[in-house]
Amino acid sequence: MKHFNEQISKAKTIAITGHIHPDGDCIGSCLALKQYILDNYYGKKVDVYLESISTEFRFLSHAQEIITESKDDESYDLFFVLDCGSEDRYEPFATMVRCAKTLIGIDHHISNDGFGDFYKIDPQASATCEVLCQIFEEDKISKECAQCLYTGIVHDTGVFKHSNTTRKTMEYAGMLLEKGVSTTKIIDETFYQKTFVQNQLLGKALLKSQLYADGQIIISNLSEQDFEELHASTSDSDGIIDQLRITKGVEAAIFLYPIENGYKVSMRSNEKVKVSEIAKTHGGGGHIRAAGCSMKGTLKDIQSTIISEITEQL
Ligand code: 5GP
Ligand code: MN
Ligand code: MN
Repeated sequence: MKHFNEQISKAKTIAITGHIHPDGDCIGSCLALKQYILDNYYGKKVDVYLESISTEFRFLSHAQEIITESKDDESYDLFFVLDCGSEDRYEPFATMVRCAKTLIGIDHHISNDGFGDFYKIDPQASATCEVLCQIFEEDKISKECAQCLYTGIVHDTGVFKHSNTTRKTMEYAGMLLEKGVSTTKIIDETFYQKTFVQNQLLGKALLKSQLYADGQIIISNLSEQDFEELHASTSDSDGIIDQLRITKGVEAAIFLYPIENGYKVSMRSNEKVKVSEIAKTHGGGGHIRAAGCSMKGTLKDIQSTIISEITEQL
């Protein structure tokens, strides 16, 4: 990225943010970029702004310094928005982003049409962390930075199993391994390990799941009551959609949970269905095989809309 070095060198104060409900790639890319700047540029103030992150990511370097509240009177010289396909996805910090002198976007969402003074979007990249691997100079990546990058790639590829995993992804992962990353710790403790409550929630969702279109579509949802019964939060439902997707015979999976005036819809597909197109029609976005949106209406109406839109593509 031509302007990357130049803009960082010029800036005294730098901020980094990602999308709402931050996932492994979002957290990993924001912290990796902070670490890379601190390691390789002299005298920069670098702040990361994100909504509260899950405890399993708190071992990553500088995770403890993440700022969760927007400081609307701060004007940074340079603001990075990472892993974020559209402006509504960084809404909690949008005022600050608007006040920044320069804005740079780095992303891999196919639904990202590009915003900011400069941007690099690579929809072929498995993760925003993979895009950062392209931008960073290999010999300037420290072990701490590598841990963050590896975490992001592990999460967005579902541990190197989703169709977004390419030869390049594996080559970057190999380079990060050589930096000394704790692969087992990252994969087990941040990806596979679930709390008791998260497992119970998954159980509920699997029991409630239903098949449509001759078993090619699977759909499930959790209600407010489901979450309350287990004292669970919506972030405890992360990963349920991936379990639905690997049901034998299924091409597309849909998972819903209630939000204000409607439902949050997550979609995954295996080979055929372009779920990003469906999400985009409803104001959302994502990747070809993993996308989401928020929809107004009743559960029944939303479910039948999404099922019929997926069926059209089958
Ligand atoms: P998930 O189903 O895990 O929430 O999201 C899957 C993918 O779709 C992620 O890459 C996420 O960034 C994107 N995504 C999910 N919900 C939305 C949304 O409401 N708007 C946009 N633009 N992207 C979304
Ligand atoms: Mn993400
Ligand atoms: Mn990502």
